[in-house]
This record gives sequence, C-alpha cells and structure tokens, in this order.
Amino acid sequence: MPTIAVIPGDGIGKEVMPFGVQAVDVAARRHGLDVEFDHFDFASAEYYQEHGRMLPEDWKTVLGSYDAILFGAVGCPAVVPDHVSLWGSLLQFRRHFDQYVNLRPCRILPGITSPLRDKGPGDVDFLVVRENTEGEYSNSGGIMFEGTQREFAMQETVMTRVGVDRVMEYAFDQAMKRRRKVTSATKSNGISITMPYWDRRFSAAAVRHPEVETDQFHIDILTAHFVQHPEWFDVVVASNLFGDILSDLGPACTGTIGVAPSANINPTGEFPSLFEPVHGSAPDIAGQGIANPIGQIWSGAMMLDHLGAEDCGKEIEAAIESVLRAADTAVLTPDVGGTGNTETLGRAVIEALN
Ligand code: ATP
Ligand code: MG
Repeated sequence: MPTIAVIPGDGIGKEVMPFGVQAVDVAARRHGLDVEFDHFDFASAEYYQEHGRMLPEDWKTVLGSYDAILFGAVGCPAVVPDHVSLWGSLLQFRRHFDQYVNLRPCRILPGITSPLRDKGPGDVDFLVVRENTEGEYSNSGGIMFEGTQREFAMQETVMTRVGVDRVMEYAFDQAMKRRRKVTSATKSNGISITMPYWDRRFSAAAVRHPEVETDQFHIDILTAHFVQHPEWFDVVVASNLFGDILSDLGPACTGTIGVAPSANINPTGEFPSLFEPVHGSAPDIAGQGIANPIGQIWSGAMMLDHLGAEDCGKEIEAAIESVLRAADTAVLTPDVGGTGNTETLGRAVIEALN
C-alpha cells in the first residue's frame, strides 16, 4: 500500500490539492490499489508565522518514511520572502531526498490554445529531463571581490561523472518508453570545459543505448527550435541551468501554466520523489476559487506512474483530456476560456474517471 505525504502549502496550492488527492484515490481504487494519504500543514506561510520556520525539526524522518510527496505550491511574499520559503522547504527536500531529476512533460492538450500559431495536440509532446542537483547551481565555491576598480564575481559549475551519468541514464530510460529519441542541450562552443564534458558523457550514454536516436543543439538555437519545431523533440536532457530555462519554456509553448505538471525524482527509490504542478501559489488569484486544478491532478498521475501504477496514471490523463475535449465553458476555469471554477473543473475530471 503506497503512502503519500500531502503538502498543500500556500495560496491556490490549498485550493487545487483536494482534486489532486481525489483523482489519485479514485484511479487507484479502480485498480484495487489502496493509497494512504497523510496531510501536513508545514511548508506554508501560516506554519512560518506560527513557528518561525518553514518545516518542523524532524521533517527528514517524517517525510522520509513516505513513498512519495504530493505538493501544492509554496510562496506568500506578503508574509515570507520568496527565498526564505523556497530555500526553507522545496529546495531542502530536493537536496536531502537526492531528487536528482526534474521532469516536465510538455504536451498540448485538446481544447487548449497554444501560443504557437498552427500548433495543436500532437505537435508538442516532449519531456524535459533536467539535472537537479549540481551543474551551474552547485552553490560551491565562488568569490565576490568588490570595492575597487578591479572588482569581479565568479562562481563554479560542477559536473561530476556520477551526477551527469545518472541523469543521462534516466533520460534514455524515459526515451525507451516513448519515441526513442534523446536531444541534449549543450553550449560547448562557449563554455569550454564543463559543456564538452557533458557532451562526452552524453555520447557515452548514447553508445550504451544504440536503440535510441540522439542529437544535440546549443542552448540558444534549441530555444528557437522549441518554438519553431517542437515536433522534433521526444526527450530533452539538460544541465541544471539550461534545464531550468527549457522547463519553463516548454510548458509555456503548450498554453496555460495551470495544466502543466512536474516531478522531482529520486530514481533509486531510496528517498521519496515529489510531484507538484508547475505553477506557484498565484497570490493574484488565491482565494477566488478559480485556479485550474489540472496541473495538480496531472502531477498526481505522474506520481502513480512513478509508483508503478502506470495504468492509473494513464486513466487520469485520459479523464483530463476527455473533459478538455468536451470544452464545456461552464465547466472550464477562466484561464482556459471558461466561466467555471476550480470546483466545476475538478469535479468534472473526477466524474470522467468514474
Ligand atoms: P509563486 O511565487 O508561488 O511562484 P507566482 O505568482 O510568482 O507564485 P504563479 O503562481 O506560477 O507564479 O503564477 C503566474 C501567473 O499564472 C499568475 O498570474 C497566476 O494567476 C497564473 N496561474 C498560475 N497557476 C494558475 C492556475 N492553476 N490556474 C489559473 N491561473 C494560474
Ligand atoms: Mg514566483
């Protein structure tokens, strides 16, 4: 029986989470799978106001005992500065639970208008696999020398063989379950040591997986191809910085931020992985009940997939697509052109599942 730690967090995270939990529960039950959910109120502005910190002392043992974490959104800049809330919660999870892959599926769903003219469902369907623990965001070394005419700042990028190889391996494994193609994001014409190393480890992974087609692009032209030729891509593997950029650009190409899911994965299974919508707490619409719950629900589908219940995950995705295809404006939330709300859209997906 999989056990899930549910952390709604702040703002619209609290509003969309009930539908994420319910969708997972309904889909799992249909397959005779009993999922246990425990809700936690930490990693939120309210918890911070009460305790002066984002997490309890024993969060590592508490969360470490679960099979996965379903997360809503953190962030309430009026109460806690963003760097405090983020560094005090999500980024701690990422590090301690060694969630070394960040995954973002980018797919245009039926009924959603892509900002890319002439692109619709089927044209954009790729997966961004971002290295999530080292690279340009290693946060090691660096120096700031200020106060003279010669002031300077420098900061290191760290790429370890283990760190690069393991994210490559994950990307190729994912490609085997998809259309068997991996594209690498590089910049070895401008960054002279770490990026050529990245390229070498990519080539080594390609040799280990001869059944997977590979190509690579410099990050600058790759961003252009995302917009002009998104149909070229299946799995895109990237370092921490380039992956950060691509994993925002990718979902942006598919329409609304409200439907996009993401995962922070520890593929070894030693620690829990974390699943969360791409969107944040959206303080501008929080409290209005109009947030699109699909990003949260789809994140729940990714969680089931990761836990080995692939059929359940696929059923949730099918339910989402059927509701969007029906395009009932009274059901859809305003961000996708509807007059409905979180409740009407969330309930419609649950009904489609049943
Ligand atoms: P945070 O600081 O938590 O990241 P944010 O406001 O910076 O929050 P998002 O929460 O991602 O960033 O919001 C960006 C924009 O997208 C906002 O205008 C928000 O209202 C809108 N948005 C985000 N999520 C949704 C959603 N689920 N449904 C509808 N609109 C959304
Ligand atoms: Mg933000």
